[in-house]
Amino acid sequence: MKTIKQNIQIVEEKITAAAERAGRKREDVLLLAVSKTKPVEVIREAVACGLTSLGENKVQEIMEKYEPMGDGVHWHLIGHLQTNKVKYIIDKVDMIHSVESLRLAEEINKRAAAKSLVMDVLVEVNMAEEESKFGIQPERVEEFLRQIAPLPHIRVRGLMTVAPFVENPEENRVYFRKMRELLVDMNQKKIDNINMDVLSMGMTGDYEVAIEEGATIVRVGTGIFGERYYPNRG
Ligand SMILES: *Cc1c(COP(=O)(O)O)cnc(C)c1O
Repeated sequence: MKTIKQNIQIVEEKITAAAERAGRKREDVLLLAVSKTKPVEVIREAVACGLTSLGENKVQEIMEKYEPMGDGVHWHLIGHLQTNKVKYIIDKVDMIHSVESLRLAEEINKRAAAKSLVMDVLVEVNMAEEESKFGIQPERVEEFLRQIAPLPHIRVRGLMTVAPFVENPEENRVYFRKMRELLVDMNQKKIDNINMDVLSMGMTGDYEVAIEEGATIVRVGTGIFGERYYPNRG
């Protein structure tokens, strides 16, 4: 079994190579270490290797790990967020990747205002239009952006998608490409307050293809920390 350090070296090399293939710079892609289900001792190994941006999909896990991990790390909420839980993480995360309803955006805006901060958010897009997935349908993104753009305590930085689970990552290329086209398209609409430059897309199985298609944040869990175990789920 490889160590976390070795895993990170491999991922780093693949990111650099994918960026080069696309004529992009390594620095233009953030490697977000998805630490869900992993204990703080394990996460510290990744931080020691320089991965200070951490992604979690549950509010509960951020709350448990926030104090022990301390300053010097940046938390990103990447999973579905219930409105009633926004208050717990509003002053703990740097970015919320999963905004996909007006109600949620309004709650984030309200809680951010109460803490006198402006929260960076991404709009989650269900690019492959899968029934089981959260996210705004691509054709509704413009309307949604127009609804949330006026909220003064959120800053819409870009778009995020969770691509389908596939064996061959090439199958997802089309969705990553459409994400980039959507971002460009939305910026051209010249909506007040909307000037987006972040594309959060690509996971362990397909981050190289995502980078070739313009990802600026890749969310990698298994590729860094190994398989996840869910003890309570049998
Ligand atoms: C778990 C998760 C990831 C990371 O998945 P891996 O396949 O382990 O890299 C990325 N994005 C989201 C939203 C996740 O929930």
